[in-house]
Amino acid sequence: ADELMFIQKQEFYKNFDSNSKHANHMSQTALLEEVARGSFRMYLQPKCDISSGEVVGAEALVRFGDKTHGLITPDKFIPLLEKERLIRYVDLFIYEQVLKQMTAWQQQGKPLFPISLNFSRITLLDADLMKEMLEIYSRYDSVPKNFVQIELTETIGEVEREIVFQIGKSIRDQGFQLGLDDFGSQYSSMSLLTFMEFDTLKLDKSLIWNLETSPSCRTMVKCIIDMCREMGMECLAEGVETEEQLALLKNMDCTTAQGYLYSKPLPADEFGKIYL
Ligand code: C2E
Ligand code: MG
Ligand code: MG
Ligand code: MG
Repeated sequence: ADELMFIQKQEFYKNFDSNSKHANHMSQTALLEEVARGSFRMYLQPKCDISSGEVVGAEALVRFGDKTHGLITPDKFIPLLEKERLIRYVDLFIYEQVLKQMTAWQQQGKPLFPISLNFSRITLLDADLMKEMLEIYSRYDSVPKNFVQIELTETIGEVEREIVFQIGKSIRDQGFQLGLDDFGSQYSSMSLLTFMEFDTLKLDKSLIWNLETSPSCRTMVKCIIDMCREMGMECLAEGVETEEQLALLKNMDCTTAQGYLYSKPLPADEFGKIYL
């Protein structure tokens, strides 16, 4: 059975191979079979309080496959799933995994901390999204909603603005949290802040990686951190890899950080064993 599963997986992998002739198509049935088969997995990467170094939360990140058969990272399959309008299944699957994992930890008497997850622009445009989120949530309603944060990113066009504004608002109105991912990697994210409210702003990796060498980058990051404080948003630096980056961020009073310096994303059970 394991061998059969391996062959099926290899077939499915071909969909993600951009060099393959079959690369550009995937059916909803094939995708849902893979979801049901457990081929998509949730990894968790810790978020740390910069001053204490303590783990204060995590981000859920999707992976396809497993360590023995090969692990595929989201940049390989998310664009295809977006193109095929299938990404919502994966996003909602991870959303459910987050709730399921938190419920399990609650039942084991473990301390609970917030987990964020990523929703694609395509998922956010789905008119039924909130209905589905609430339906799934009703099965895990011992988890406080404000412990679940939806991260959004992306260039959002004028037409989509209103829709994203509405869903972002209803996510917060329902009591979930909203995060703005990859801040500083795109032109549009600044203007997003003028018409939407977020609980967390995530400084893009590219800004963090330029901190040590670029004085103007340091100035920008300092200003963004100050802006977050003024606006009552948590400011989280992503992609922190060196002690020097961390020291600079600490100096600028950034509160939270995430990156390989602390830990790579881990399978959820490993994460639990180490951090809970
Ligand atoms: P993201 O949401 O900005 O997530 C952070 C990415 O940076 C993750 O890549 C993470 O593994 C990586 N990272 C974290 N710390 C470091 C570091 O110190 N150095 C370096 N080099 N990388 C670091 P990952 O897991 O490959 O995910 C890539 C992107 O795929 C994510 O970027 C997110 O936009 C998207 N993604 C991941 N999971 C999901 C999901 O469930 N649904 C959707 N729609 N998108 C997802
Ligand atoms: Mg993210
Ligand atoms: Mg990011
Ligand atoms: Mg990203």
